[in-house]
Parts: sequence; structure tokens; C-alpha cells
Amino acid sequence: MDHFVYRDGILFAEDVSLEAIAAAVGTPAYIYSTATLERHFRVFRDAFAPLKPLICYAVKANSNQAVLATLARLGAGADVVSGGELMRAVKAGIPSDKIVFSGVGKTTDEMRQALSTGIKQFNVESEAELDLLDAVAGDMGLTAPVSVRVNPDVDAKTHAKISTGKAENKFGVAWSAVDRIYGKIAALDHVEAVGIDVHIGSQLTELEPFKQAFAKVVDLVHHLRAAGHAIQHIDLGGGLGIPYGDGKATPPAPAHYGAMVQEALGDLDCDLIFEPGRLIAGNAGILLTKVLFIKDGEARRFAILDAAMNDLMRPAMYDAYHGFTPVIEPQTTATETYDFVGPVCESSDTFATQRTSPPLGAGQLLAIRSAGAYSAVMSSTYNTRPLVPEVMVNGDQFAVVRERQTLEALIGADTIPDWLNSKSED
Ligand SMILES: *Cc1c(COP(=O)(O)O)cnc(C)c1O
Repeated sequence: MDHFVYRDGILFAEDVSLEAIAAAVGTPAYIYSTATLERHFRVFRDAFAPLKPLICYAVKANSNQAVLATLARLGAGADVVSGGELMRAVKAGIPSDKIVFSGVGKTTDEMRQALSTGIKQFNVESEAELDLLDAVAGDMGLTAPVSVRVNPDVDAKTHAKISTGKAENKFGVAWSAVDRIYGKIAALDHVEAVGIDVHIGSQLTELEPFKQAFAKVVDLVHHLRAAGHAIQHIDLGGGLGIPYGDGKATPPAPAHYGAMVQEALGDLDCDLIFEPGRLIAGNAGILLTKVLFIKDGEARRFAILDAAMNDLMRPAMYDAYHGFTPVIEPQTTATETYDFVGPVCESSDTFATQRTSPPLGAGQLLAIRSAGAYSAVMSSTYNTRPLVPEVMVNGDQFAVVRERQTLEALIGADTIPDWLNSKSED
């Protein structure tokens, strides 16, 4: 459930009309709902109520400071995958001892930054990373708390580009190498094993792959403890899918996921960490856009929008489905079929093909749904299109939480080298 609903024929975000926001900030613009973010966080947390897990929101899904600060106030931790995200999380008020650092390619500088911040744990993804982390921590006279991200080789049954737990994916340590790497941690002086970590993919719509992976991890915890390693917590990653309104498989409810986790863990005495991203933020945001033109091609009718693939890349990158909702509620049951496209000079700048919609006209406002996660964060300035603003709604208030980038700022980031400042040839 989200808080983007019609009121008297106008689409609202909580108690604010999207027409009013469009008038104030222009389009395209991302609009986030505080109440929806909070609701999703609480629903997820309550699914594990007796276990009191640490919920480390996956910052990469939506890293706006206002989003992070909203979740920080609810007690969220953070899962970060870069030094930049670490800085964002700390700046938004997430306590350092609730931050875990994931990712296959941490640099020396990032390790140093995380060690001096005093994060909860490094989710280590290779022996080479472990060696470097031990050296960096040793240099600083510190000991790094580590969990090994294991690759359970299960099929998450999701889109190939967001599957991470198969043997052929770059993520995690191969099952066959897990014993050796924990042995190595025990032998090294400046790393300490505190847990184990798994994350098998994103937008999972079935419980079975989680179940298989978690069963393997539970066995592994028993095995590692028997070998003398102190495994205090297990990090079960993120990945639970959300409904995108595409009529495809409905993802399991968080409560069912919670029940499955509790059953999988049995009486394993372990602190729990989760890293949900999409589930918290995905349906808490929309991309507000305007129809520029309706164009009748030979074979298709195109609705050309002012938003494009540089603003919202998911359809081009993952063939992702997004719903389109007119901001002014249609007064007719008539429908037309459109291809929804942006102005960027790429054929892949297509949000939807052959989509049934109420009849549309130039100037009409549309909400592109489910654009709270993996949306604004992936935007670029391709075609010299400035980054669009982000707006946070809270009840009857709204605030611009990232300004629209100006063309001056965008182009001003380039410099012309001295040798081009001399006189030209003609
Ligand atoms: C992306 C990612 C997540 C979040 O995944 P969602 O599908 O958004 O819940 C969690 N953990 C790791 C390591 C990730 O890379």
C-alpha cells in the first residue's frame, strides 16, 4: 500500500496535490512519501518482531538525505556499498554501529574511512579483500569486524541482471572456499569474524530461493561454530520483491517472509541483520512527468514524455514495468494504446510499449509509479539533461530535497584545457 491516491479527481501524495507540486517545481520531478517509507519500514520490522533484527536499509536504492534521515528516525541502520554512501548515511544521522559495508570492490581509502567511522561490519567478498582489509586495519592499529558474504549457489528466479547468488555471479565467496577463508580470518591479526552474510538477488517474488539459501547458511553457522569461529550474527541481505502493478507474480508479504525466516533459523542463537532496499523505497516514490506530444507513427501511437531514460533507467536496463497514472483522474472509460517514450536519442528510451491507457493529450501530467528505488539514484545527464529535483512529502507539507540541477552547474563541471585557449587557426 502507498499514499498516492485520487482525491476529488486529482492524484495526491499524502495530503498534497501532485498538480500543486508540478506547478511549484516543474516536471520531471521525483516525489517521495514519508508515510509510505515509514509504513514499509514498520511492516518489514514487525514481520520479525520477536527477533528484533537490525534493519540496515540498502542505501543504494535511494540515497537522498531526506530518505535516509526519515529512516534513521525509525531506528534504521544502513547497508552501504561505497565510501560515498557511507558518508551519506553518517550525515543523515544513521549511527555508525548500525552500518554494514557490502560490495566486491572496496578500496584502501574506503576501508580506512569505514574503519575510522567505526562501522558494525565489513561484508567481505573475497580472500584478496580480506588480505587488504587486514593490512589496512593493521596500519591503523585496529581490528576490522568481518562477515563473509557467501555465495550459496541458488537460483533466485529473478531477472538475470539482478540475480547475485548463483555460482557464476561475481558476488560472495564460493561455498567450497568458506572454510578456508574463516580459517584465514582466525589466523590474521587485524580482522575478526563476527558473522556471516548472504544476499541472493533483488525483486524476488518467491520464498523458495530464500528458503534454500537460508537453510544452507544455518548449516554453515553450526559448522563454523563447531570449528571454533564465533558467529554472533547472520545478515540475510535484502531482495524481497514488491508489486509493480504488472499483474505478474505477487511477491510474498513481509509477514510470510518473516515466518519463513523464523522457521529456517529454528533455535539458532544469532542476532539478525537484513538489508532491504526496494521493499522500503520502491513504492514510496513516483516520477512526475508531462506529456509533450502525442505522435502517430505508422505502426504505433507514441506518448512522448518530458522524462527520459536518463531520469529513470529501469525500463531500458531491466525491461522493468512501471505503471502510469494520470494526475487528473480520467472522466472516461475509453482507452487507447501507446508506447510511452522519452526525448533521448536512443530507441531504448522507451518506458512501455503497447500500453493501454486512458486517452492522453499534450500537457497532461502523469505519475510513473514505483519509482522510489533504483530510480533517481541511477539517473545521469545523458543528452545534457540536468538531474531532476526530488521532493519529499510529509502529510500536508512538501520540501524540495534535491534542487533541479542547473545547466550552468552541469556544463560548468567541464573545463577547457589551456592549450585550447590560445588562438584558433582561422
Ligand atoms: C542491492 C543490495 C541489497 C538490497 O536489495 P533490495 O532488492 O533492494 O532489497 C541488499 N544487500 C546487498 C549486498 C545489495 O547489493
